[in-house]
Amino acid sequence: MAYEYDSENIFAKILRGEIPNSTVLETEHTLAFRDITPQAPEHVLVIPRGEYVCFDHFALAASDAEILDFNRTVGKICAMLGVQPGEGGGGYRLIANSGEAAVQEVPHMHVHILAGRPLGRMLNPA
Ligand code: AMP
Repeated sequence: MAYEYDSENIFAKILRGEIPNSTVLETEHTLAFRDITPQAPEHVLVIPRGEYVCFDHFALAASDAEILDFNRTVGKICAMLGVQPGEGGGGYRLIANSGEAAVQEVPHMHVHILAGRPLGRMLNPA
């Protein structure tokens, strides 16, 4: 499958420093920042610096170093937010909308970390 990356998407502009963001954590391969329209008291977006369109693109094409760094960053943010279920936090949800069916708005791979309130069941009825 050929993935076509649009380098004018808003997260690409954030990575190039063309528009501001509320950074939570940055590493060699990964950037995490607050969602501009939070859906929960804690709503952080985690994105790779590399040009990946969606989760499967990243998982299939990224280097081991990028994938390791991304996952470690997600874990570190959960710890920073204090939401780890086993550590007295209330838990959290990860969402990676990918493609049309999931209504992915920004075509740069990202994972949402949502926490800070009861999040309900996984999906609304179609
Ligand atoms: P998705 O539907 O999974 O593609 O979600 C894209 C998310 O990006 C939405 O939750 C938006 O609120 C968020 N978003 C869009 N523009 C910005 C921005 N400039 N800074 C932070 N978050 C943004």
